[in-house]
Amino acid sequence: MKPVEILRKLSDAFGVSGFEDEVRLKVREMIEPYVDEIRVDALGNLIATRRGASDKVLMLDAHTDEVGFIVKWIDDRGYLRFAPIGGWDERVVPGHRVEIDTRNAGRRHGVIGVAPPHILTPEERKAPIKMDNMFVDVGATSRKEAADMGIRIGDPFTIHYPFTELYNGYVTGKAFDDRAGCAVLIETAKRLAEETPPVTVVFAFVFGEEVGLRGARTASYQIEPDLALAIEGTIGADMPGVPEDRQPVRLGQGPAISVADRSIIVSRKLLESLETCADEAAIPYQYKLPTYGGTDAGAIHLSRGGILSGVVSVPCRFIHSPISTLRLNDLENTVRLVTGFVRSLPGSILS
Ligand SMILES: [Zn+2]
Repeated sequence: MKPVEILRKLSDAFGVSGFEDEVRLKVREMIEPYVDEIRVDALGNLIATRRGASDKVLMLDAHTDEVGFIVKWIDDRGYLRFAPIGGWDERVVPGHRVEIDTRNAGRRHGVIGVAPPHILTPEERKAPIKMDNMFVDVGATSRKEAADMGIRIGDPFTIHYPFTELYNGYVTGKAFDDRAGCAVLIETAKRLAEETPPVTVVFAFVFGEEVGLRGARTASYQIEPDLALAIEGTIGADMPGVPEDRQPVRLGQGPAISVADRSIIVSRKLLESLETCADEAAIPYQYKLPTYGGTDAGAIHLSRGGILSGVVSVPCRFIHSPISTLRLNDLENTVRLVTGFVRSLPGSILS
């Protein structure tokens, strides 16, 4: 399966934080042929191990969850009220179709409706709508009909757009943060399949990053790695109206290596080994501008007595909105950098 097809499967899968079973199942199917052992822990981390020539352990982390919403109330006319799961910009939420993951009735659909502009006052037209005032119209006309549809308080939902190829390796879909990272891990495992890696590589597909790096914390405690890399889909902001010094990363310029964000300051020793790997293989790369965002590395590096950790990201535009875009050559170059880094170990960094 080509990387674009891996990304398509993962992007189209449902995986709001804490409700990540479908993504986990797809990850498992795709990575199973390339690893020696797979287990899923009590909270939903999928941990896949590829044994290497030494007992040094590299943890490669990607999170399986995506930002979404949860039903918090169903009113007597059948409208759903909801709360965010993870960080949303309220301005971009209204006016989309959603997919609701019910407990026993499969997937149901609805629309985050807004009042028509015709009936709004000039002041109302200018003001963004608060999430507290938004609702989902599922086609039910009463609370009972919503219940008959199998919709309950606590059901998660997401805005769903199917994965689509745009032009020349430019693709769009939902949840590239962090299904792009999950795709990098699967493709890396595949490329290492025909060789014995110099160190043991543990591919950790962790839950709940968007609600506070939850899975990374418990996964890193169990794995107890010597070194870790979090692989992310991160903030591409090369777009009209944004000055260059506020563009954390740009599309088409290769993997983004983090120097410092809100959750970690990466050691220069680790930065230099990533840079050397990229330079030796002529892989283009960029720095993610400090100090935007935070990643699983924030939790991993503070695990146990402290773990040397870094972050490599696939640039994605429009993350934490209903739909994102990326360039497949950035995904490919991220895989090349991560694979090259594995092959460079133990190197000076682990010896
Ligand atoms: Zn993320």
